[in-house]
Amino acid sequence: MDATDEVIELCRDLLRIDTTNTGDLETSAGERLAAEYVAEKLAEVGLEPQIHESAPGRASVVARFEGSDPGRDALLIHGHLDVVPADASEWSVDPFGGEIKDGYLWGRGAVDMKDFDAMVLALVRQMRREGRKPPRDVVLAFVADEEAGSTYGAQYLVEKHAHHFDGVTEAIGEVGGFSVSVGGDQRLYLIETAQKGIDWLRLHAKGRPGHGSMINDDNAVTAVAEAVARVGRHRFPVIMTPTVRTFLEQVSEILQIELDLDNPEQAVEKIGPIAMIIGATLRNTANPTRLAAGYKDNVIPGRASATIDCRTLPGQSELFEQQLRDLVGPDIELEYIHRQAALETTFDGALVEAMTAALKAEDPGALPVPYMLSGGTDAKQFDKLGIRCFGFSPVRLPADLNFGALFHGIDERIPVEGLQFGVRVLDRFLQQS
Ligand SMILES: [Zn+2]
Repeated sequence: MDATDEVIELCRDLLRIDTTNTGDLETSAGERLAAEYVAEKLAEVGLEPQIHESAPGRASVVARFEGSDPGRDALLIHGHLDVVPADASEWSVDPFGGEIKDGYLWGRGAVDMKDFDAMVLALVRQMRREGRKPPRDVVLAFVADEEAGSTYGAQYLVEKHAHHFDGVTEAIGEVGGFSVSVGGDQRLYLIETAQKGIDWLRLHAKGRPGHGSMINDDNAVTAVAEAVARVGRHRFPVIMTPTVRTFLEQVSEILQIELDLDNPEQAVEKIGPIAMIIGATLRNTANPTRLAAGYKDNVIPGRASATIDCRTLPGQSELFEQQLRDLVGPDIELEYIHRQAALETTFDGALVEAMTAALKAEDPGALPVPYMLSGGTDAKQFDKLGIRCFGFSPVRLPADLNFGALFHGIDERIPVEGLQFGVRVLDRFLQQS
């Protein structure tokens, strides 16, 4: 079977394995089954996959596909096998049914990211059947736990089984290479060259506890609420990073609009729904997400806290922390509860040329541009090994599809043609890589 046919079958099979990651070891399931499925598909074509379990059921698969020149640095292709939960009552199809209708393959994980897992599997299987080798070693990693912070997946592999990545200098993975239609018939392909950093912070306020009926001018709830309101309403200044600047310059040229770097939102608005991601990469952001205080309606508690989800631009985390401290004031204590660094690489070199050439060969109207992801992926883990990471999971999308909304969204689905397009692009890319 040709890879462009098999990719549909493989993706469907993977969607039917419920790999819901709740972030809780007790209730997460399916990753082991999915890992075994992938390992079997790789072993069938003579590769030697290894399954690593970081905790019961939390399985990842790694295999090395030897290239024609094993002396060259290796390329990592990584995808995660877990998905976020889906509430079936909100969906128009069974989220784990792998249904095909209206030209789409539907299911939780269809865009995030069993589509790419299936593309890679289909292509590797075809290459093996045809006796074709990639020009250099390719390390394949299909991992657990991306959706809950990577602890039991990519992070575990990087910390405990790093030897798999010996000689790897570059990597491709999720959230890049997809098309965004602009100005009629022009298609940008957003290749991810940067990611914002993640800083989850807890704000702590202390005050004087007491009876709710009495005067209290040192109320912890009031203090934390004031700090949260200031942070939530604050707009941090625009900071132009090389990736975002290149993106905006190229988009402005394509759309023939004037780019005002002091007011870049004007250009961002023109690119449609994806502006929600791009807009967030113009600045550091801080969104309050949780509040915790009190235990009785008529008791003023001595403490109150709030969680702020902060996302920082490359190189900004120290300055950002200072700005945040100024904003919340001296009486609020800041505690980091989760930190992951921002990433940024340049949009140049042989690998980038291979990506852009492959896209243009399969879609002559393709306009590849670099962009920064406002969220984070497993790339943050692989970056720790000094690997230069890109988001390149190519797919051509219909102009009217709001792709960004499908990530973790209801009725997640991938166009069947887009999957097949992705296999062809990856094939060309890998030959040139
Ligand atoms: Zn993902």
